[in-house]
Amino acid sequence: MLKVILFSITALSISVYAQEHKAHVHGAAQVSMGFDGSKGKIEFKAPAETVFGFEHEARSKKDREAKDKGLQALNDNISEMIAFDKELACEIKMEASQVNQEKDHADVEVEYAVTCQKPVAGSTITFNFKKGLSRIKKVKVEVIADEVQKSLEVKKNGESLELK
Ligand SMILES: [Zn+2]
Repeated sequence: MLKVILFSITALSISVYAQEHKAHVHGAAQVSMGFDGSKGKIEFKAPAETVFGFEHEARSKKDREAKDKGLQALNDNISEMIAFDKELACEIKMEASQVNQEKDHADVEVEYAVTCQKPVAGSTITFNFKKGLSRIKKVKVEVIADEVQKSLEVKKNGESLELK
């Protein structure tokens, strides 16, 4: 019996690993947001190819410029890419940004802090990811705002998620 249980646990962790590994798809990004009242965090993750066009280490001047330009476009446009209701008066501030280089692939991970004047639960978030990511095809968005939990696969600008 114990053997059977151990085997199931191993099989389960392998399938979880496979899913996480599969998450690296060029053109696809993931956004997770969590809010406690009017404050929260956004975690953005996307393949480097989708943010600045390549995934090898940026050694040449041309590569470094392309990388900076891609990351800049993402951070400069984040308030339009993830647009909160105007009446909430939210501010999005970049807190941490890193490029995780693996052998043949790389991921960009950015964390943002969000501070609003009103609670985010009950409001609507509108997504315009193409404003800052010209290569993006789809974004899996997951939001937890107090007791509300919602998710959406965003494929075009203007799609929105009602947090009710
Ligand atoms: Zn890749």
